[in-house]
Amino acid sequence: MRGCDNMCTYCIVPFTRGRERSRAAASVVDEVRQLAEQGVREVTLLGQNVNSYRDVTQPANLTHTKLAEGFKTVYKSKKGGLRFADLLDQVSSVDPEMRIRFTAAHPKDFPDEVLQVISERPNICKMLHLPAQSGSSAVLERMRRGYTREAYLRLVDHVKARIPEVGLSTDMICGFCGETEDEFQETLSLMDLVDYNVAFLFPYSMREKTAAFRRYTDDVPDHIKKDRHNRMMELYRKKCQILNDKEVGNTHLVLVEGIDKKTGRFMGRNEFYLKVVFDEVELPCGEGRREVKPGDYVSVRIDEARLSVLKGTALRVTSIGEFYRDLGWADRKLLRN
Ligand code: SF4
Repeated sequence: MRGCDNMCTYCIVPFTRGRERSRAAASVVDEVRQLAEQGVREVTLLGQNVNSYRDVTQPANLTHTKLAEGFKTVYKSKKGGLRFADLLDQVSSVDPEMRIRFTAAHPKDFPDEVLQVISERPNICKMLHLPAQSGSSAVLERMRRGYTREAYLRLVDHVKARIPEVGLSTDMICGFCGETEDEFQETLSLMDLVDYNVAFLFPYSMREKTAAFRRYTDDVPDHIKKDRHNRMMELYRKKCQILNDKEVGNTHLVLVEGIDKKTGRFMGRNEFYLKVVFDEVELPCGEGRREVKPGDYVSVRIDEARLSVLKGTALRVTSIGEFYRDLGWADRKLLRN
């Protein structure tokens, strides 16, 4: 899908990409089927606000699109069409051995039906992008994000309860118009509370045409923005290293991409899209052994954790089905410490 119907005051996307419109689910599913037949192992559903997806060529469903609790929109509730939960259901059913990712998301569009599909499908990566943008309700109001700090934190707790092995990512802006030191501290405290696996952190930069450009003053000096950005980065790095350290001893399902240019070792990605490197060239596979190749799923025991890479020992060539069967899908929260 393209475009966005939200009107966050700092954002240029609604002006450059236009209104939200979604590609028909049938054509997406057809393309995914063709890719699966060609042996493609991973697909990412893309959109400015992908979980706001709504295929209006399918009028069968006449219920209103639901939002996460405590979230509101600047536009009227939408009715009809196939929604993101339906699309995820259809796409993830094409090939249970194909990994499904999606980006970018808006936290408001994670109602229970979306969380339900994600939680019950082993091939949907349990990495959710919940861009908070700020931890201060006053700043969120000025940004016109449609939620408060409290509603966001309730959603995080709810997501973690529904999907115990979930990983979270966010976007954060510091130095938005009028942001005080106390408001910025709320962003740091939100980051401290949530435990993000990945964070994209930006000092605010005003764009022409946006509502903020017309209404507000870009009044936080550059050196303050820079300082706040550094403090966010420092906290994020510290927290992320702690999270990664907890993975030592755990076994991850890694989709092999090839040889890592830096280290010359095999390299792949886990469910959180974190790089995992390992040395083993030949591994047990079914009853025998064989050489590892790109496109293999490999189970890797993590031995060492850095900020942006995990190092481990590859145990066997596996499949999504086998990996979670061995682990006990019902006990999959054991995946996480
Ligand atoms: S920040 Fe995201 S949700 Fe807000 S207007 Fe831009 S694209 Fe839309």
